[in-house]
Amino acid sequence: MAGEVLAFGPNCSAEFALHGGKEKSVLVAGGAGFLGSHICARLIAAGRRVICLDNLMTGSLRNVRELAESRNFCFRLHDVIDPIWLDEPISEIYNLACPASPEKYQRDPLHTFQTSVRGAENLLMLAQAKGARILQASTSEVYGDPEISPQQESYRGAVNTFGPRACYDEGKRAAETLFYEFSAHRGLEVRVARIFNTYGPKMAHDDGRVVSNFIVQALMGQPITVYGDGSQTRSFCYVDDLVDGLMALMASPPDCSSPMNLGNPGEFTVLELAQKVLAKTGSHSPIVFSALPTDDPRQRRPDITRARERLGFNPRVALDQGLDATIAYFSGVMGSISEPFKQVS
Ligand code: NAD
Ligand code: UDP
Repeated sequence: MAGEVLAFGPNCSAEFALHGGKEKSVLVAGGAGFLGSHICARLIAAGRRVICLDNLMTGSLRNVRELAESRNFCFRLHDVIDPIWLDEPISEIYNLACPASPEKYQRDPLHTFQTSVRGAENLLMLAQAKGARILQASTSEVYGDPEISPQQESYRGAVNTFGPRACYDEGKRAAETLFYEFSAHRGLEVRVARIFNTYGPKMAHDDGRVVSNFIVQALMGQPITVYGDGSQTRSFCYVDDLVDGLMALMASPPDCSSPMNLGNPGEFTVLELAQKVLAKTGSHSPIVFSALPTDDPRQRRPDITRARERLGFNPRVALDQGLDATIAYFSGVMGSISEPFKQVS
């Protein structure tokens, strides 16, 4: 891994400066992760110059490997907890740097909290210094275990301040506060997306979230691990739709600066998801039930009226279609449905 970083880390600075001229770059913090790598790819395809900054904690250089061939792409290994300085002119910053899977963000809760809060502050200070617009990848988790459905942006949430999810939920809530204080008192142009469960190609096979877990388990013939009785619900958004929404939000007028839900309102139980994955993969994996994790939200469904009206956001990919694409991706990564997964990890 270290060799790979060197291959397009230090080189990138000189290369980038050489070809950049005065053109401003887009910084994607967390750009080697699942969502970040899709954003980097879309920006590069649109001819933008992209700096991808990541500590590779849950992301991978594999996700951005093909982008490294572009003169417009540059990777920087950096932890957002540490102060950030970049010489390049920057016009836009996407802050996606934070583990998103409960299994991953609970491994080092203090680091997760600091990533959310200190990371946001460091990126906001960079945005201020560069005069850049900055977008925060916030989350439906700011609503905690919601008592209302669907969740509108005006709902203030039901969040436990000290449970196992608090490092993420409260970190993301504090980050929103920082964004709006920097906007109010330092004049920054901010955008805040409250992202609901998003899935698709380039999720890590060992990410731990439900869609990738179920697909990998089904393809490998392993038991499908349903937590609780599977009656809890989630609304699953395909990554291409979500990236459309994030890019539209970044380009939106100043009156779109208050938090905006982004997701697909179609709501499914976790058991329904398991059954769909089994049917689509033709897998004979058994479903096994285990305890529901503490504070696991019982229901989740976005009200996307604001995003529809203000951004023209309209998720197009139904769960069945998105699952087909995601299963095809994991099947390809695994080489063959029946072969051991370790062959490609
Ligand atoms: P991911 O884990 O695949 O990506 C996160 C990326 O951030 C990884 O590349 C990781 O290495 C990097 N990172 C983590 N901590 C860092 C640090 N301290 N410094 C630098 N880089 C760091 O997760 P994702 O699904 O792509 O999520 C991206 C963002 O979107 C996260 O902020 C997450 O909270 C938010 N979000 C995602 C979803 C979703 O369903 N995918 C839902 C709500 C919010
Ligand atoms: N879940 C599950 N089995 C798994 C992983 C997750 O039943 O292998 C459940 C989890 O308890 C939650 C839902 O699926 O109710 C979504 O979990 P995920 O980790 O994807 O994201 P969350 O929405 O909880 O942040």
